[in-house]
Amino acid sequence: MTFADVVIDISHEAVDRTFEYIIPEELEGIVKKGSQVQVPFGRGSALKKGFVINVKERAAFDTARLKTIQGVEPGSTSIESVMISLADFIRTSYGGTMNQALKTVLPVKRRSEPVIEKFVCLDADVASANAALETNERKKNVAKARLLKELISEKVLPMSMVRDRLNIAASTIRSLEKDGLIKVVIKTNLRDAVNIDEKPRYDIRLNSEQSEVCRSIWERYESKDLRPSLIRGVTGSGKTEVYIELINRMIGLGKQAIILIPEIALTYQTVLRFYRKFGNRISVIHSRLTPAQKHDQLEKARLGEVDVIIGPRSALFTPFKNLGIIIIDEEHEGTYRNENVPRYHAREVAIKRAELSGGIVVMGSATPSIESYFKAQNGRYQLYKLEKRANGAVLPDVEIVDLREELNNGRRSMVSERLYCLIEDRLSRGEQVMLFINRRGHSSFVSCRKCGKPLKCPHCDVSLKYHNNGKLMCHYCGYEMPMVKTCPECGSKYIGRFGAGTQKVEEEINNLFPQAKTLRMDLDTTKEKDGHAKILSAFANREADILIGTQMIVKGHDFANVTLVGIMAADMSLYSESYQAPERTFQLITQAAGRAGRGEKKGSVVIQTYSPDNYAIQCGAKQDYESFYAFEMDYRTILGYPPVKTMLGILLTSADKAFLESVCRQLSSCIDEEIKRTGRDIWKMGPVDPSISMINDRYRKIIYVKSKTYDDLILIKDAAEEFLQQHQGKDIQTAFDFQQ
Ligand code: ADP
Ligand code: ZN
Ligand code: ZN
Repeated sequence: MTFADVVIDISHEAVDRTFEYIIPEELEGIVKKGSQVQVPFGRGSALKKGFVINVKERAAFDTARLKTIQGVEPGSTSIESVMISLADFIRTSYGGTMNQALKTVLPVKRRSEPVIEKFVCLDADVASANAALETNERKKNVAKARLLKELISEKVLPMSMVRDRLNIAASTIRSLEKDGLIKVVIKTNLRDAVNIDEKPRYDIRLNSEQSEVCRSIWERYESKDLRPSLIRGVTGSGKTEVYIELINRMIGLGKQAIILIPEIALTYQTVLRFYRKFGNRISVIHSRLTPAQKHDQLEKARLGEVDVIIGPRSALFTPFKNLGIIIIDEEHEGTYRNENVPRYHAREVAIKRAELSGGIVVMGSATPSIESYFKAQNGRYQLYKLEKRANGAVLPDVEIVDLREELNNGRRSMVSERLYCLIEDRLSRGEQVMLFINRRGHSSFVSCRKCGKPLKCPHCDVSLKYHNNGKLMCHYCGYEMPMVKTCPECGSKYIGRFGAGTQKVEEEINNLFPQAKTLRMDLDTTKEKDGHAKILSAFANREADILIGTQMIVKGHDFANVTLVGIMAADMSLYSESYQAPERTFQLITQAAGRAGRGEKKGSVVIQTYSPDNYAIQCGAKQDYESFYAFEMDYRTILGYPPVKTMLGILLTSADKAFLESVCRQLSSCIDEEIKRTGRDIWKMGPVDPSISMINDRYRKIIYVKSKTYDDLILIKDAAEEFLQQHQGKDIQTAFDFQQ
């Protein structure tokens, strides 16, 4: 007799466990890991749907009392088993329940109206379209002009791209249709509506650096070396073209591709490049799709109607049957980690998914995460480098401005003298400026404006966080001290909380340059639907001279007319409470600098800082990744931070503060015991308050565990999960956060 472990598809934590069933003889060999089955469940033995997550020879329970699987749901094919295995991997690697893992990987089933795919086509000859474009530009019909311009170049665009990516309103489309300039057709009539041959052809020839990378990755794939590839390529080095070439080859083999791009970088320009190459064979997923729309996209992928899917993190779970390649662009991005349980990292799950499908993973970034670069150095990833900008654009000039000197010279403005002069110069030439202020950090870190030193924990070398009770605290070890009045380093009284928001910068710019038009992009101004895209397109249309924003503005946008980028306070991200602060700072400076001078004009970057000698700022200014990596690895080796050691954060939350504290204490001693039991070199810190100690009225506590090996941390995670079982049903939630 064979048996199956079955998860019943009921979304309730209490039933989240596996049940054993007998596999009847006639279903032997048919019921497999991943099969969807019908099983009798509960007292009344009502038939329920379940997923088989394991098939085995021996039962753990009394076989006489086991029920028998009644049938296999039709249509459960091998792609489902891949997804179940993936869920299994997610559950064992990141904690959480099997149900949560299954819900993460399997698309929500929604019935939806059949979608009619629409396209927007140019319906006039180029000469009259150009004339209309001119008229609309003169009349300042910005949206109409923008759409016309794109259609003159592209001839046809999917409605979804026009609406979502180009951010054109339905009324604009109707109006241009009435003018007889464009028309909207449904997919089945597309061929009759436009002369497809007129479409621009995609013909970029890879340069030698790019073709060498492609050749090598492909050769390794053909010789079954399926290790992930990491491309470190400066911004504009043509990584995207390498992805496109590799995907094209995969499609040639009848395989499919998933491209992960952080949502914020999924701009019209980016999607257009893939659309030009792959046309209707691509589909885009983004967070504004309704569950039904998303399900439709995934269903198209399952049925083989598209070969390429582009999207953020969750695109990873596209049910392609013959997946060949997963691309992870901007590999270092924090958004690849899921913030909800299960807290998986897209990079690791992508590697698992590719392994299960015999495909490959190709990651790219100008500033790879330290952990990935570490793996590349150790040969777990294959490293490639692209050192030159592909379209010949030169890297910008970067200057560092020491804000301590500004203060010594009696200048109190957030805008240094140098930055002021450069902004004035750009305004006089009609060029555009981006000013960037890091939101992370806020005003909860304390530093000296005279010597530039932040107040740090003596044990952990991370910045202390200011609490409203007037105390300074460390969020790794719990160390605390009273707020100081003078700087412990230099005695200056110019000590205080750091911070200026985007709003304050905008006010100051409006004071200094009353003639300039400004746009601000932050969480406040992008709240409304499409707020983000609207601001970017307004800036692209030169409706403003200066764009002020948070890290949102540094992602993958190409503005040819931007020749100056100012980083208002590079220290802000340096003083965050995470050990990854220098890494984030380096990434932000490099990415921000990458925004300047994308076109023909050379760009400048000004970095304002209180710590001009800091290695993250120095290396960022020189765009010198290798030196930064060397410095950073020294620092992490000394302090035992990942990737030298692996780290696990166990986050516990509850609305009941006293209960939370008591569970934390018990869990803490349970972990101590487990460490003792294993006899391994495992290190525990906490419980401490995380940087945000309450969210939605739920109190939060965190316990950190560090060790040389990941397997040790899995042991601790398992012990913690087992301990927490006894509190099931009570008001306590857990999340496991692995850093390796
Ligand atoms: P990355 O993804 O590394 O930032 P992109 O792929 O976006 O770089 O390339 C930057 C610019 O260079 C784009 O405008 C792209 O069209 C252009 N480009 C890339 N490769 C080539 C090439 N081989 N020949 C000409 N232009 C190229
Ligand atoms: Zn000082
Ligand atoms: Zn500390």
